[in-house]
Amino acid sequence: MFTIGCHLSSSKGYLNMAETAVSINANTFQFFTRNPRGGAAKPIDENDIKEFLEYSKEHGIEKILAHAPYTLNACAADPSIREFARNTMADDIRRMEYTPNQLYNFHPGSHVKQGADVGIQLICEHLNEVLYPEMTTTVLLETMSGKGSEVGKSFEEIRQIIDGTELSDKLGVCLDTCHVYDAGYDVVNNLDDVLDAFDRIIGIDRLKAIHINDSKNPFESHKDRHEVIGGGFIGIEAFERIINHKSLRDLPFFLETPNELDGYQKEIEVLRGLYRD
Ligand code: FE
Ligand code: FE
Ligand code: ZN
Repeated sequence: MFTIGCHLSSSKGYLNMAETAVSINANTFQFFTRNPRGGAAKPIDENDIKEFLEYSKEHGIEKILAHAPYTLNACAADPSIREFARNTMADDIRRMEYTPNQLYNFHPGSHVKQGADVGIQLICEHLNEVLYPEMTTTVLLETMSGKGSEVGKSFEEIRQIIDGTELSDKLGVCLDTCHVYDAGYDVVNNLDDVLDAFDRIIGIDRLKAIHINDSKNPFESHKDRHEVIGGGFIGIEAFERIINHKSLRDLPFFLETPNELDGYQKEIEVLRGLYRD
């Protein structure tokens, strides 16, 4: 089954997101747990959650993906920024447990002149404080483009974070097609090789979600600017191969393209047309 959706606003709650997804022929969605620039999250409305869970069951929504705020930097040099990252993620995970067994994605962080090794060590310390044995949520490390001092621009860096995390069974990976292409993984011409490398270095079983975005910039540009599907350097033929690839086709796909709802609806229609049952 093709699981496809897009990023939606969480301002009107969970049931509203599920209804919006269904209205554009999506069967999953991504949302920010709080304002993407940080700040307090709205309190959980247990009645909204209950209605959401019932509605999702009726409409075949099985997976959802929460995205941490962009400002969360688990490997900042400033300890108070790291503390904010810890508190925010701990609170997000607590909230995620109202919708058990779902996915929570975050950007590993930016090491800002400390070097990738120090960054990775700090990210592991962060995860070792925040993860706990009873949680049902899987925390996803997003593959990054290598803009600035981003950690997570290579499969090796992601592997190191997993290796340094005690409760690594709680971790997975979200592969962003724009980010990996910008980072220098050629998903256009060598998709099999890229996924072989992912399997060898990280293990394909860790891959839990795909951010499906075209790129405004050419291969290995380290820019991270998303483009609409088919409008960028990755191109529609590559996306047809990506959504049908045997290692990817059963994963949930999330559009983070520059679109309003009607644009997302069209992209979902196009991708559904390319998916081979
Ligand atoms: Fe992201
Ligand atoms: Fe992404
Ligand atoms: Zn991005």
